[in-house]
Amino acid sequence: MPPSYSTDIVIFGGGVAGLWLLNRLTAEGYQAILLERDRLGGGQSINSQGIIHGGLKYALHGAFSGASRAIADMPRRWRDCIEGHGEIDLSACRVLSEQYYMWSGPGFGSGLKTFFGSKAVAGKANLVASEETPEILRGSGVLYRLPDFVIDSLSLIEALSAPQKHRISTIANDSEQFVRRKGKRDLLVEIEGNLVELKANRYVFCAGQGNERLIGQANLDNPPSCQTRPLKMVSVSGASLPPLFLHVLGKGLSASPALTITSHGNAEEETVWYLGGDLAEKGVSRSDEEQEESAKQLLRRLFPMLNFENLTWRCFDIDRAEPASARGGRPDNALICDEEDIIVVWPTKLTLAPVLGDMVIARLTKDGIRPGTENTLPATAASPPLGRPFWD
Ligand SMILES: Cc1cc2nc3c(=O)[nH]c(=O)nc-3n(C[C@H](O)[C@H](O)[C@H](O)COP(=O)(O)OP(=O)(O)OC[C@H]3O[C@@H](n4cnc5c(N)ncnc54)[C@H](O)[C@@H]3O)c2cc1C
Repeated sequence: MPPSYSTDIVIFGGGVAGLWLLNRLTAEGYQAILLERDRLGGGQSINSQGIIHGGLKYALHGAFSGASRAIADMPRRWRDCIEGHGEIDLSACRVLSEQYYMWSGPGFGSGLKTFFGSKAVAGKANLVASEETPEILRGSGVLYRLPDFVIDSLSLIEALSAPQKHRISTIANDSEQFVRRKGKRDLLVEIEGNLVELKANRYVFCAGQGNERLIGQANLDNPPSCQTRPLKMVSVSGASLPPLFLHVLGKGLSASPALTITSHGNAEEETVWYLGGDLAEKGVSRSDEEQEESAKQLLRRLFPMLNFENLTWRCFDIDRAEPASARGGRPDNALICDEEDIIVVWPTKLTLAPVLGDMVIARLTKDGIRPGTENTLPATAASPPLGRPFWD
């Protein structure tokens, strides 16, 4: 018989969702452990662009949608945590840019002004005066400052995991197995080379794309469905690139900007422009060479004064893992589903991790699950390593 241990909550997945939840639960007094099968943050979280949205991007195509309402309070909650007086301590998380911008690009200035002048969004973004506009955007289109900001997602994962290291264990790939007894489950899993039995009040699946397999293992009667949205992201790096943080609109207002640029640093201490938006969504049907060429053409058209020779270009294929939504579109909010002792969650955006924490705690409270079980699993000897951004 494998040794048996107990705890209040077992979390699967060490991306932003699982790590945020681990910090929230332990702050509330719950005993919780987190199981990761690979690198912390190495799924979507470290490869995200790190934009903490206030939702205006999602209001582009008309009135405020569900997504923009759910997200509007997120920049404030994140800032409170980063300043050290929020629900969890993120004072070690680096902010890459306090500002995020929306730029009309060369051809759509009047449309963007009309949008930001409209009743639904008036006062939510500020027009940037031309003397404050970065040089490479001057003389073309209009620029608005959004309530959004950008964090370094690697430092976020470090800040979330460092204080919790003793509660985070590496499990062997595909080793988890649930044993069902009268509506409750025990978990058999291989931790650091040893098969152990874990007994918890709740098992929370925060494993992104890995949720699908876990849902199958838990044998739920009404399993939630998942969807993936593929992206072909591009990075371009070089010492000569100025830092830029902005959405560039396409030909008009649409659900997704033509290009989303964030700026990061690489191991060679160069600037890395990380390129998403429509470029990455439409790029999934292109080869790496075609996608690189599309990115070059777009950047040359937008920034004709910059020299894009002698830079390093890379393409990166990654899926967004989300709950399934009608017609395969973007889900509006974080999602939680539960059945018996299993809770399945997807934040759908890094930004919405705080909402997901609220949802899980509300569900535990509703089910009468209070902190109380003694955590008998010994502290982890070596927690899983951190993921790295793909350009490193
Ligand atoms: C290219 C890109 C850019 C993005 N940019 C932004 C942005 O700017 N702003 C924003 O708000 N959102 C952004 N997002 C969305 C955001 O990154 C995701 O919604 C968020 O990171 C999901 O976090 P997660 O913890 O659910 O999943 P993940 O980060 O994918 O983590 C899941 C973890 O679970 C682990 N795992 C899988 N199976 C198991 C198992 N059986 N047992 C244990 N562990 C397991 C994986 O190894 C992984 O570490 C972006 C997404 C992508 C792909």
